[in-house]
Amino acid sequence: MVGSVAETEAWMDQAVTMAKEALENGEVPVGCLMVYNNEIIGRGKNEVNETKNATRHAEMVAIDEVIEWCHEHNKEPKDVFAHTVLYVTVEPCIMCAAALRMMKIPLVVYGCQNERFGGCGSVLNISSATLADTGEPFQCIAGYRAEEAVEMLKTFYKQENPNAPKSKVRKKESSN
Ligand SMILES: [Zn+2]
Repeated sequence: MVGSVAETEAWMDQAVTMAKEALENGEVPVGCLMVYNNEIIGRGKNEVNETKNATRHAEMVAIDEVIEWCHEHNKEPKDVFAHTVLYVTVEPCIMCAAALRMMKIPLVVYGCQNERFGGCGSVLNISSATLADTGEPFQCIAGYRAEEAVEMLKTFYKQENPNAPKSKVRKKESSN
């Protein structure tokens, strides 16, 4: 289902561009594409701050776009998702990994690990776990453009620190 290395690089290049846009918008820099029959049918970048909705991760935005595409093209989402590859700059989190299982996406190509929330091995292994009532496991190919993806995350979390509620942090520390 996955094309040549050059094709994969080209999809990941577009995902990286979307992650850069997210970073410029003050969002967690994650970008992704859903590719079906060699065509992009869904795109997403993290929109949590813009929408003030903690669930609007790149993957969730892209899933909604694919469902819309299916409606427009008179196709069953379950048939389309079963043949769709997700290209995403960062390992999907636990929530998104569970959503990908439920949609029965078979393959995810991603960049760097998600050490805080990763659902494909870093924190939990939702992607390959035996979960009878939660869709299907999916395969992962990791490491494409990982260094750039990590650099963007580092840049984001460095920017975030000055905005952290300092008094709360101090309170926490003193109560420990
Ligand atoms: Zn997520």
